Amino acid sequence: MKVPFFRPEITEEEIAEVSDSLRSGWLTTGPKVKQFEQEFAQAVGAKFAVALNSCTAALHLALEAVGVKRGDMVIVPTMTFAATAEVVRYFDAVPVMVDCDPRTLCMDPQQLRHTIEALLSEQPVAGLKPPYGRLKVIIPMHYGGYACSMVAIMDMADFYGLNVIEDSAHAFPAAYRPPTADTGTTIIRSTPLSNGYIPAGRFGRVGCFSFYANKCITTGEGGMAVTDDERIADRMRLMSLHGMDRDAWKRFTAEGSWYYELVAPGYKYNLTDLAAGLGLHQLRKAEQLRLARERIAQSYNRAFASISELETPVESEDGRTHSYHLYPLRLNLDKLTIDRAQFIEELKARGVLCSVHWLPLHLHPYYRETYGMTEGLFPVAEREWLRLVSLPIFPAQREEEVEHVIRSVIDVVTCNRR
Ligand SMILES: *Cc1c(COP(=O)(O)O)cnc(C)c1O
Repeated sequence: MKVPFFRPEITEEEIAEVSDSLRSGWLTTGPKVKQFEQEFAQAVGAKFAVALNSCTAALHLALEAVGVKRGDMVIVPTMTFAATAEVVRYFDAVPVMVDCDPRTLCMDPQQLRHTIEALLSEQPVAGLKPPYGRLKVIIPMHYGGYACSMVAIMDMADFYGLNVIEDSAHAFPAAYRPPTADTGTTIIRSTPLSNGYIPAGRFGRVGCFSFYANKCITTGEGGMAVTDDERIADRMRLMSLHGMDRDAWKRFTAEGSWYYELVAPGYKYNLTDLAAGLGLHQLRKAEQLRLARERIAQSYNRAFASISELETPVESEDGRTHSYHLYPLRLNLDKLTIDRAQFIEELKARGVLCSVHWLPLHLHPYYRETYGMTEGLFPVAEREWLRLVSLPIFPAQREEEVEHVIRSVIDVVTCNRR
């Protein structure tokens, strides 16, 4: 049997919706994008949602909207995907990396505090040396769909006057319930859903989601930014379409709706109606898709719990709803005769395709060469990435495929015990 790392599940409903778009003549941004924005905003309880063609675009425009400029400092995790930090570089701003929590693999709040204090007191930190630019933004990333400790992060952001932009690429629908003492305070301003939970992406000034093919819900390629701040939403919308101000015509009664003015050199980041049609259906199924992934994670957890060579990932728990975008299994390498790469090869030989999330950013050639970053800077991320294996976890995964993954993992462990 062969189990891919991911296989999309596209139903007839979605195919019909895309056909409908093709027949309607609205190929690019039109009524379905508008509807998708409204329904997504409602799903996460946000005042505004801006649909974009990727989460990377959402992160880029969010940084632009909060006024990041050349030389500014933006805090990012090292344990994340390329996009979280590359958008900082688009401005020639400086990504300041932070190590991860060993349990959740999300940004470690204590390390975050240490980093902020070092930056503000002009001490060397994160492989960087003073003098520093202005510290403006923190970009926490909800690793695998498990929400970061947002109360601690928002508390620091508030204290130091920093913007928080959440990289929620993995985290829809994921949620976090702040201890009741923290809701309605100055720290947590967003209104909880009726169950007391706040969706990931709703703590910071802007939350950015990805609808890339293998993300929790998909539009093929696509993204969404949510915010309660109208000025930010307007700016992001404007910059997503060339910096065209289409409301300008209202000021000139003699002109028509064909009139626009360019107010900034914007980008071309709009989502298409073809994609939004897919998104509308995916959105309505989001919780059902999440439950399907949760059930697979639970099967893996049960099967691996008593195997001392393996460490299972964090789960949904009281106060955290996990979206289960990833299932990052960790190997206890001291109990195995093979390393992680060999483990993945052994699984591949048994027909199971895995991935790794991720080689920490500071170990990539670009960051080594640009900032002189080296091994030893972020010991937790460096230690954990060497033993990470992401197993297949997707709603279209059949029961026998889940069982085959479990059998194969156990077989590889059994054949390679120390
Ligand atoms: C996938 C991903 C992104 C980028 O999403 P796109 O929609 O492909 O631009 C950003 N951050 C993280 C953590 C991701 O995994």
